[in-house]
Amino acid sequence: MSSIFTKIINREIPADIIYEDSEMIAFNDIKPQAPVHFLVVPKKEIPTLNDIKEEDGPLIGRMFCVAKNIAKEMGVDSKGYRAVFNCNKDGGQTVFHIHLHIIGGKKLSFNI
Ligand code: AMP
Repeated sequence: MSSIFTKIINREIPADIIYEDSEMIAFNDIKPQAPVHFLVVPKKEIPTLNDIKEEDGPLIGRMFCVAKNIAKEMGVDSKGYRAVFNCNKDGGQTVFHIHLHIIGGKKLSFNI
């Protein structure tokens, strides 16, 4: 079964998409934890960080490049932001299709 994020990629459900290329999509989080909160999602369905393979290295690296470019566009690059991957239940993961959270636009407390 495809993840909710694959449904967004396939335009089966709507999202506030802010970036897309052949292997990646980014959209604003539906329940933002800060003024800036977007997700960078590879189109490849990788359920958790535990499922990353050596060959995924360049893809994972590009997620950070896409993230920092969007963060700059949103004007949070110099003040700063947090980049988070949650993994499985104890990590707070709720959508099992890896995604990088970028959270900023305010001074973040230690726990988010
Ligand atoms: P995680 O808890 O790390 O798996 O993060 C999943 C994130 O996806 C949460 O911050 C949700 O608010 C967000 N989310 C879930 N459904 C959607 C959606 N349809 N559009 C945008 N963000 C979503």
